[in-house]
Amino acid sequence: MKTFYITTPIYYPNAVPHLGHAYTTVYADILARYHRLKGDETFFLTGTDEHGLKLQRAAEKKGIHPKEFVDEMAERYKNYWSLLDISYDRFIRTTDPDHEELVKWALKKLYEKGLIYKAKYPGWYCVDCEKFYSEGEYEVIEGKPHCPIHKKPLEWLEEETYYFKLSEFTEFLQKTLKRDIVYPRQYAQEVLGKIEKEGLLDVSLARPKSRVWWGIPLPWDEEYTTYVWFDALLNYVTGAGYLRDPEKFNKLWANTHHVIGKDILWFHTAIWFSMLEALEIPLPRKVLVHAFLINRGLKMGKSAGNVVFIEDLLQRYQDSDGLRYIIARIFNLQKDIEVSTDLFDSIYNSDLADNYGNLVRRVGTLVKRRLNGKLTAGKVDEDVQKTIEKTIEEYTAAMNSYEVSRAVEHIMDLLRRANAYMNESKPWEKQAPVNELYTVMEAVRTATIMLHPIIPKSTTRVAKAFGFQINYNALSTHLEEYNVTEAPILFRKVKRT
Ligand SMILES: [Zn+2]
Repeated sequence: MKTFYITTPIYYPNAVPHLGHAYTTVYADILARYHRLKGDETFFLTGTDEHGLKLQRAAEKKGIHPKEFVDEMAERYKNYWSLLDISYDRFIRTTDPDHEELVKWALKKLYEKGLIYKAKYPGWYCVDCEKFYSEGEYEVIEGKPHCPIHKKPLEWLEEETYYFKLSEFTEFLQKTLKRDIVYPRQYAQEVLGKIEKEGLLDVSLARPKSRVWWGIPLPWDEEYTTYVWFDALLNYVTGAGYLRDPEKFNKLWANTHHVIGKDILWFHTAIWFSMLEALEIPLPRKVLVHAFLINRGLKMGKSAGNVVFIEDLLQRYQDSDGLRYIIARIFNLQKDIEVSTDLFDSIYNSDLADNYGNLVRRVGTLVKRRLNGKLTAGKVDEDVQKTIEKTIEEYTAAMNSYEVSRAVEHIMDLLRRANAYMNESKPWEKQAPVNELYTVMEAVRTATIMLHPIIPKSTTRVAKAFGFQINYNALSTHLEEYNVTEAPILFRKVKRT
């Protein structure tokens, strides 16, 4: 049995998730559901990144302990993911005991290997990113260095800290990044270019406890707290069971897929790959990098003040499936996507309401009225059959290469073809239009199975109403008999306001 291990970044719970988080998480969920559908042993990990200065400050502001703050926020995240039907297998929190144990083990190992040393760190620092920015990385606005993500002035900071000898991994990284591991490839080139241009500098992996006390203390120096990124990256290893369940780990880790946004590319390649190499843990199979969601000219984010709220979209598109579908359809690994209500409405109306929803309703109604709900196997129209077979191939190829939006477009083409076939063959004009309705039903059934990872609720409803199973292997066979008990109206068109 094949395994498939997929992760999202763990999110920083200083605020509730917005469309930007949903974008990444729904995409990962679709891939996880697709692999489950195919029968792969799938493990889907998401969670929250619960340490660091930003959360320490957020809790202080509310006058509560950070743990109390993150406990509440983790619950809110889980609640959002349940609203969006996110089928994670574990929700990991960096305050989980098995994770803290793993971070301490990793630190100790690197320290004993001589890969960690103490020295002074001076530089420009973004509190929101919890990251120092070097010249060329930060933006200069009115003569002052600003964070390129948050567009806020950086703070000058100079402190004694512990460094991880990242510079020792230059050759290793140059070799590794040429392998087929970062997808799409352009992002590997970006990292290689940065290494070429700036060289690899050692990175600080701790913060003085006096400034940041909310974190995992260094095992050999309690006056220091582990840098939040170092702590966070290791969640993927904890989640797969490295220390506590090595058997599970070995099985899952061989097929690890990290889904990330391009803003955290450096951490998930240069730093993460080097950490794994240093810890003698194999590299992930793929790092899937996506571009940004843009709203009013900026990357969507809390500090940019341009977030689109998940609950607003759930309301507008009636349920999770509408929003999940829109995300799948606009999802783009290479290109930034501008958020727009017009675009979202038109995707929802034309693909879900007019195409899939309409066909389900029409064919269901006709089978009920003309055939009393019982449709036994007839002859499938040759041309439609060809389209079905071609679509299954294209869909599978697209999903296997992580191109969810392309997979969805192929399904929509098939459904449009089936709608057109219905109009051409006019089954409503015939006495017993078995072949015509069976042809349409077979298109609906295969499309429904393929759509299942994207819109699980509606597809489950259709399968139940028409009497078939959602099963990947059933894509290549014909169904003997349909029992139509209902012709559901799945999506109601959104009206422009
Ligand atoms: Zn920043």
